[in-house]
Amino acid sequence: MLQETDALRQQLEYRKRLMDKINEIHSADNLNTILINIKDSIADLFSAERITIYLADAKRNLLISKVMSGSEIKQIVVPISDMSLSGYCAIGGTIINIKDAYDLHELKMIGSNLKFDDSWDKKTGFTTKQVLCVPMKFQKTLIGVIQIINKKGDIPYDDTDISYAMELATSLSIAIHNIYRLSVTTKVIRNKSRYNFLLDKNLVDDRILEKAAIHPDVAKTGMDAVLMLEYGVSKEDMAKNLSFYFGAEFVGYDPTIQPIEDDLLKRVKPERLTKEWWVPYKIENGILHIIIDDPTDLARQDMLKFVYPEYKRISFIGAFKEDILSYINLFYYHGASGASSSSIDDILNKLDSGDDPEIESESQRVSEQDSVIVQLVNKIIIDAVNNKVSDIHIEPFPGKEDIQVRMRIDGRCKIYQKIPYKYKYAIPSRIKIMCNLDISERRKPQDGKIDFKKFGPLNVELRIATVPTAGQLEDVVMRVLASGEPIPYDKLGLTERNSRVLDACVKQPYGLVLVVGPTGSGKTTTLHSAISVINTVDKKIWTAEDPVEITQRGLRQVQVHPKIGFTFAAALRSFLRADPDVIMVGEMRDQETAEIGIECSLTGHLVFSTLHTNSAPETITRLLDMELDPFSFSDAILCILAQRLARRLCSCKEEYVPSQKELEDIIIEYGTESFEKTGIQRSEIRLCKSVGCPKCMDSGYKGRLGLHELLEGTDAIKSLVKRKSEIEFIRKQAIEDGMTTLKQDGILKCFQGLTDIKEVRKVCIK
Ligand SMILES: [Zn+2]
Repeated sequence: MLQETDALRQQLEYRKRLMDKINEIHSADNLNTILINIKDSIADLFSAERITIYLADAKRNLLISKVMSGSEIKQIVVPISDMSLSGYCAIGGTIINIKDAYDLHELKMIGSNLKFDDSWDKKTGFTTKQVLCVPMKFQKTLIGVIQIINKKGDIPYDDTDISYAMELATSLSIAIHNIYRLSVTTKVIRNKSRYNFLLDKNLVDDRILEKAAIHPDVAKTGMDAVLMLEYGVSKEDMAKNLSFYFGAEFVGYDPTIQPIEDDLLKRVKPERLTKEWWVPYKIENGILHIIIDDPTDLARQDMLKFVYPEYKRISFIGAFKEDILSYINLFYYHGASGASSSSIDDILNKLDSGDDPEIESESQRVSEQDSVIVQLVNKIIIDAVNNKVSDIHIEPFPGKEDIQVRMRIDGRCKIYQKIPYKYKYAIPSRIKIMCNLDISERRKPQDGKIDFKKFGPLNVELRIATVPTAGQLEDVVMRVLASGEPIPYDKLGLTERNSRVLDACVKQPYGLVLVVGPTGSGKTTTLHSAISVINTVDKKIWTAEDPVEITQRGLRQVQVHPKIGFTFAAALRSFLRADPDVIMVGEMRDQETAEIGIECSLTGHLVFSTLHTNSAPETITRLLDMELDPFSFSDAILCILAQRLARRLCSCKEEYVPSQKELEDIIIEYGTESFEKTGIQRSEIRLCKSVGCPKCMDSGYKGRLGLHELLEGTDAIKSLVKRKSEIEFIRKQAIEDGMTTLKQDGILKCFQGLTDIKEVRKVCIK
């Protein structure tokens, strides 16, 4: 009797601990928190020596260990098949309860192909005995497997253990499934904090917010409007709610309000206010009050300080957009002040003369309103795009020297235009406004992006960098991100061997392909060309880029936003849940991204990426220096292509027979021994020199040409990687495997008359 009570008490205790675990699982908000925090306590709960939680990959081909107690081994990957315990459990959704993993007879009773893989035991000195595997499923989808090993006291797992393990598996599956869905629900969660006031007053509930968030009108009118129009939230309540959320006063429309002084209204035109959603409202005790649709928008607050520099203090009041429009209408067109008439005059003047009479009278500090400045900046950008310029440099000088505008074409800067010095603040300010940068900050560098289709007739994006220069000035550099098509693969200028090797690599089902080189070496273009070869309808291809410069139909291209935490690594993780075949990640700039990239390539995906390294062999040592696992890395690597761009000779070039001296210098640079192996006859070598014609604007060069160095992931290379060999051994082996170095590739292209040795030397310095 006493024994029975004890047993019952133990049962209840066990049960209570299980429920605690389950609660912990449901309160966690990210996968790692769940798994890492509970792994040891789960092992404890089952009196187990170790536990492994496997998650299935997107295609349900593999199980990948996520956490294990006892962390001698970094990660286990098990195919989902009837050969292994966890694989068998996953394939049929069956619970496996083994008394002794080494008992062949016991295994054969379950499945004829079933084997216990003892290699981990051998590696770690651990002896596996009891094994309990339970599948994790959500609805009918396999999520993974929980594997519990060795019950303390060397006794088999019993029915209670099994039923509790199943409960745990169900809870974990739901929690993991929910986290996979998180990207969808983040929006709702974010919206929730915006509507805290309404939620507290029971004016809306979670269900309404979730429904409203997916209402088709949200994109057009915004969620606030949808809640008011479709879900019965009154305007007053919404105003209170937003006031609470913004921490600012929120006003409705009051037609009896007297407009503010004429002078402040005249300074800006109503057309601008209706675009930017603000209006000057009143002045009280020397404080200027401005009504704005989002009183927490710092970018616009800074801009407004610029428009009204004489007000040290500006207070921002929130209002609905429709009410802001009513105020603009009241103040400018129907108010008692003279603002209305001058505004109508403005419009008439504009119609008559086509220019803006205010330009001359405006001070430089407010000249960001000047339409001439606007037109000038637009013109610079349009010209740049039309001339296939890659970068625009705006360079103001101290004193009365004119602003210099230079543009980079085919890698070289050229002077485009001089602009009168009086605009040296106005032009940078205008550009900063176009990309929402802080125009009052001139002491620190800033970066941003212009979506030009909002301002002009071209669909082009520009990446902006401002750099403070001497004399409290600012240079602005704009990179034109032509939303171009990839270069056709056969136009990349790959040699026959390089083309053959790269072609074979990109057609592999999984593994890692890297393109490396400095900024501006055309890595992204080459990557896109390579991907275009396999961009067919039967493959799902995800790309994470910063920025998306080249677009290809068929690819799903994602722009990363490191500032808000959406990094390359985060994008990769989201791709893994999005059933990929091929993944391209813009850059492996950190260990985390590199690790996940390699993990992806080992779990059945073809992964493309780039790195800022100088040569193909150096890339290997760089990645090993990031402390990547050399075994995983060597398994993953298919090939590494280093690239440079040299200027291509224009068709006006002139062929000549090189002098003995010139030829010998070039051959020494090629490596005399390697040169002899090419079988090229010295007497047959011709070179070309640049001439210059109107087509190439007398430069002698037109367009650019890729120089390449392609390292193949051969068995010999893989074994050097595993041993973390020195770069010299890797280089030597790669050359033995058929690699030509960047410089050799360049020299061969000189022999073909595509470029000249000066260009090759320039881009191939070590
Ligand atoms: Zn020419």
